Amino acid sequence: MSHSSSNRLQVLNSHISSSMASEKDAALAAVPSDSPTIFDKIINKEIPANVVYEDDKVLAFRDIAPQAPTHILLIPKVRDGLTGLSKAEEKHCEILGHLLYTAKVVAKQEGLEDGYRVVINDGPKGCQSVYHIHVHLLGGRQMNWPPG
Ligand code: AMP
Repeated sequence: MSHSSSNRLQVLNSHISSSMASEKDAALAAVPSDSPTIFDKIINKEIPANVVYEDDKVLAFRDIAPQAPTHILLIPKVRDGLTGLSKAEEKHCEILGHLLYTAKVVAKQEGLEDGYRVVINDGPKGCQSVYHIHVHLLGGRQMNWPPG
């Protein structure tokens, strides 16, 4: 490898690791809270989102920082205390089931016949950054295991 391409690689690597670090920092810095989140603004159409599915209970839109060719977030339109999965109570069973079923519907709509991944991050150690429960639907590439 030439000196200049090695330098370019170093710059690229440091860029990648600093953006990974800042994502992690953002999640770790996000304090679990009941305050309204950016997702309320999306639900209330105060900020735009690329919506791919909507019904009376659930909204699904493309993630602003996609981690796969298809990366969609599914959220309940009414949070009802569900800042994260760890806050789930028995009364939330219906919406939780509806979110998962909708993930399957949207995966089909997106043509993810060969498989996909569904993720719910919870709390600081789960790297949750937005405290309005959401299901990540990721697809369009081979997923790896274990996740990071
Ligand atoms: P989590 O880290 O599991 O809490 O996921 C929150 C997700 O919300 C991240 O993947 C962000 O990229 C995504 N996100 C944050 N703001 C927006 C936005 N305005 N539109 C779409 N996705 C967003």
